[in-house]
Amino acid sequence: MKTEPDPLKPAAVVDESPNRSPDFSPHLPPRATYIHVPFCAHRCGYCNFTLVADREDLIPAYLHALETELQLLEQPRPVDTLYIGGGTPTWLDVDSLQQLLQIVLHWFPPRRQAEFTVEANPADVTPPRMALLTEAGVTRLSLGAQSFDPTKLRTLERDHTAGDIQRAVQLVRQHGQQIALDLIFAVPSETQSVWQDDLDRAVRSGASHLSTYGLTYEKGTPFWTRRYKGQLRAAAEEDELAMYLTAIDTLTAAGFEHYEISNFARPGCKSRHNEVYWTGGGYYAAGPGAARLVGNLRQSNHRSTTTYIRRLASGDSPVAEAERLSAEELARERLLFGLRRLEGIDEAQFPQQTGFQIDELAGPAVRHYVDQGLLARQDGRLRLTRQGLVVSDSIWPDLL
Ligand code: SF4
Repeated sequence: MKTEPDPLKPAAVVDESPNRSPDFSPHLPPRATYIHVPFCAHRCGYCNFTLVADREDLIPAYLHALETELQLLEQPRPVDTLYIGGGTPTWLDVDSLQQLLQIVLHWFPPRRQAEFTVEANPADVTPPRMALLTEAGVTRLSLGAQSFDPTKLRTLERDHTAGDIQRAVQLVRQHGQQIALDLIFAVPSETQSVWQDDLDRAVRSGASHLSTYGLTYEKGTPFWTRRYKGQLRAAAEEDELAMYLTAIDTLTAAGFEHYEISNFARPGCKSRHNEVYWTGGGYYAAGPGAARLVGNLRQSNHRSTTTYIRRLASGDSPVAEAERLSAEELARERLLFGLRRLEGIDEAQFPQQTGFQIDELAGPAVRHYVDQGLLARQDGRLRLTRQGLVVSDSIWPDLL
């Protein structure tokens, strides 16, 4: 049935550089898993994620395909972090959600103290779903809140209200799980005071983890088209920048640690799953569009849910793209992702972990950005400065 090499199986360690002695953590068997659930009630105008809207008829076939894909593992793989995202996993009815959890937990049994996150739309967080998620051992619910402001939620075409967020938060807390909230800023017509109010309400909500993202206009989305036609006016760059800095100042003053460009956590509440990505670890992934890094093999599944289902039903591989990364490519990725974390990169450890010196990979670019004040070299670490944080996207291409 396989047309691609070893989907999901740990790949052999490949080190083509005889003089290197890399110690890549991607080469260890992954202990993290991402499962993609591609269903939503409708598609929000700004969203370009892999999903199908209003196609509940596909859920049984998707579950069957997912199970078929995971059978390629041949044996269960215990994990330290398990993340079910989407789409909207909680859009599944209770019976389908139960089936999904059974499949996933069979193939990826959580180890002791594992972090188990499920993404949810606030409007779907009902007592029966919460009972099911708690029973399954979920430790963290990630709510796509985006805003508490009715006008902003309407602009974003979200189908929940601030009241839904509050009800969901209360229910999740009753079940003893941690709450992560996603928030979007720089939405058309949004003022600084609307954003400040969102941040204040998020702090008061009791969430232990907050992610803040500036609205983006991805090609192919209705928002991109509406902006192109002049029907939507994007926020001015300086306003977006000011909102980002407001988030940093408000959330750190409220006791959150700003630990990654877009992420803030109460002490002890960082996303351990995302830390795997940012520290260069390997991870399994399954579902339409899911991308995994096992050994030095990166694979991405077909993005189309129907193609994904059809290929698995006919005994074909779900993999659309596969590439073996060289030791240098893995080291560069580790440099880039490591710099996303506010604590930056330990310059002495980096060569031990990757087999490469930072200067050997990107010396001129690093020196240039240090001179410009966007990167800092201090106490044996290389990290983004506050000035570098706000323009980080312009730095990455020069480090690759
Ligand atoms: S709910 Fe989330 S995943 Fe679904 S369409 Fe909206 S933004 Fe995209």
